[in-house]
Amino acid sequence: MGKVEEYLTKVEEQFRRRRISVLSPGAGPTVEISGKPVISMASNDYLGLMRHPETIAAAVDATQRFGAGAGASRLVTGSLPPHMEMEQALARFKGTAAALSFSSGYLANVGIIPALIGRGGLILADRLCHASLIDGCRLSGADFRIYRHGDIEHLTMLLSRNTSQRNTLIVTDGVFSMDGDLAPLPELMSLAMTYGAELYIDDAHGTGVMGTHGRGTVEHFGLESALPFHMGTLSKALGSSGGYVAGQDSSIQYFLNASRSFAFTTAPTPGSAAAVTAALAVIMREPERRARLWQNRAHLHDGLRGLGFRLTSSMSPIIPILIGNAETALAFSAKLLDFGVFAPAIRPPTVPESTSRIRVTVTSEHSIAQIDEALHAFKQTGRMTRVL
Ligand SMILES: *Cc1c(COP(=O)(O)O)cnc(C)c1O
Repeated sequence: MGKVEEYLTKVEEQFRRRRISVLSPGAGPTVEISGKPVISMASNDYLGLMRHPETIAAAVDATQRFGAGAGASRLVTGSLPPHMEMEQALARFKGTAAALSFSSGYLANVGIIPALIGRGGLILADRLCHASLIDGCRLSGADFRIYRHGDIEHLTMLLSRNTSQRNTLIVTDGVFSMDGDLAPLPELMSLAMTYGAELYIDDAHGTGVMGTHGRGTVEHFGLESALPFHMGTLSKALGSSGGYVAGQDSSIQYFLNASRSFAFTTAPTPGSAAAVTAALAVIMREPERRARLWQNRAHLHDGLRGLGFRLTSSMSPIIPILIGNAETALAFSAKLLDFGVFAPAIRPPTVPESTSRIRVTVTSEHSIAQIDEALHAFKQTGRMTRVL
């Protein structure tokens, strides 16, 4: 057997083989899989902006005016207006002086982290950091250590051992993507100050969701004036695609110059940039979307807990059901689909060994009736798979 077949056989045997589910959008938060309409509890489109008439119209309009693609890096061909407008809108939304966009959140992380730190430096990252953060850390060439998830004592110990005064970066998600819990940002911030380290926050799942105005986890914890910059994505609650860093002018100018993944890749399409600007307008105009999201989140979380499922310490619209082994998680997800609900099984290496789970997400667009219907499906599935 060649190495390709060997690999595929191995992941199949470990119940870790990945396959893409092909779907087409249905009404509201429903999707059609193999021609069957099901309730999707799998999307990060928390505010329903991916298919909002205003974001779609903005994307269509910008595509007609400026073209289907951006042509090259903005440092080479110059920037089209939609990208400039999006960055201004982002900075306004975030309450920062400036913002810079990347072609994806993944690219933002692999570009920004190596711009911040290099060989000879020390990175301390939360164990459950997103893969793009880990890849950015590796690419930087800095010495790279992991601290236990959210464990301030462990991080303090690692920091206090580092007596050589070298450049140090603490790296964390704001909302953890596969657990839905929050990083202890105030404690991380004060540790960073104490030890002269820099704090790098990835707020992919906080943007549009957390905080009174939806500005993110940084707003949630009231730390907006304490941070020179932080990053997030345009691909989750903002419903489009791309990544961003928002912060003070000098930081943004620095990343514009020093991030290889900004310089050496083609800019996002004009349509996706214009969609972000439109999404931000909806978010700022309609706080009721966020209110609905949190009501739905409470209803689903209470319901799942009431059924007796083992949950993570989620504080967000990401509410994973902990299962344990990958085989049961796969069987759960497949059975759940039979009952009309789509939620993916998340298995290693995306999550640590023996912590396979069903990653359940809810949006502002689910109705209470749909959530109740989903809860019924979770209950049936839980019994049939002996998870309950
Ligand atoms: C999704 C995600 C990313 C990657 O963002 P994309 O825009 O999808 O490339 C980065 N960090 C975290 C925490 C994420 O959840």
